Amino acid sequence: SLYERKPFISGNWKLNPQSKDEAVALASGIAGSITESSPDAEVALFVPYVFIESAQSAVGGKLSIGAEGVCPQGNGAYTGAISAPMLNSIGVNWVLAGHSERREIFGETDEYINEQCLKIIDEGMSVMLCIGESLAEFEQDLAGSVCAVQLKKGLKGIKKEDLGRVAIAYEPVWAIGTGKVATPEIAQSVHETCRSIIAKIYDDEAAQDMRILYGGSVSPESVDDLMKQPDIDGALVGGASLDSDKFGRIINFQ
Ligand code: PGA
Repeated sequence: SLYERKPFISGNWKLNPQSKDEAVALASGIAGSITESSPDAEVALFVPYVFIESAQSAVGGKLSIGAEGVCPQGNGAYTGAISAPMLNSIGVNWVLAGHSERREIFGETDEYINEQCLKIIDEGMSVMLCIGESLAEFEQDLAGSVCAVQLKKGLKGIKKEDLGRVAIAYEPVWAIGTGKVATPEIAQSVHETCRSIIAKIYDDEAAQDMRILYGGSVSPESVDDLMKQPDIDGALVGGASLDSDKFGRIINFQ
């Protein structure tokens, strides 16, 4: 194949849509865009918990339905939480951790995100660990060092043999939901840095095998040039994953 690593296109619905009917229509519209001539990519949609099972039925196995997060605690007195075994028991494979909105709005720390990662891996599922710098950090040329800290702390305790169930999403916070997609050159340069950090934490083989996705205002217009970069292995798409035509065009990137 053209790619060293299997491309991975994923969508993050966040707190959308507002009804089950809309969720089912959107999921089946997206599944319908995957045809025999689509790229040989893994496709996943991270959706709100309440829509997971209806979205699974709607896509009929053409792509996987993931969860947007998990509470690392086990069973017990944690009102409102969802555990890793619960997600596993309904056939969830992929779970997001460390999204900038969780970090900023919900105050999740690197340590808490690491607990989530470990729990997800422990349960036999796969984790997409999101990292990325703020605008102020970007302007001070700190993207690489912020990602280094988030990677080291987020991956702490994950064994090399479990890395096949880990993907990284580099999402510069200044590009999320702003329409300001990072240029392919900027994204490529941070992805390359992230890969070298993974090589330091583990080794070269682990770094070469790790899929690193870009996220932040990815659109049908920007996806092709991003995917041509050697260290960009996929996309994590927010806004455009709520439009089956747009997300379908992203899945069918060239
Ligand atoms: P966006 O969101 O594509 O709307 O910028 C990306 C994300 O938050 O994962």
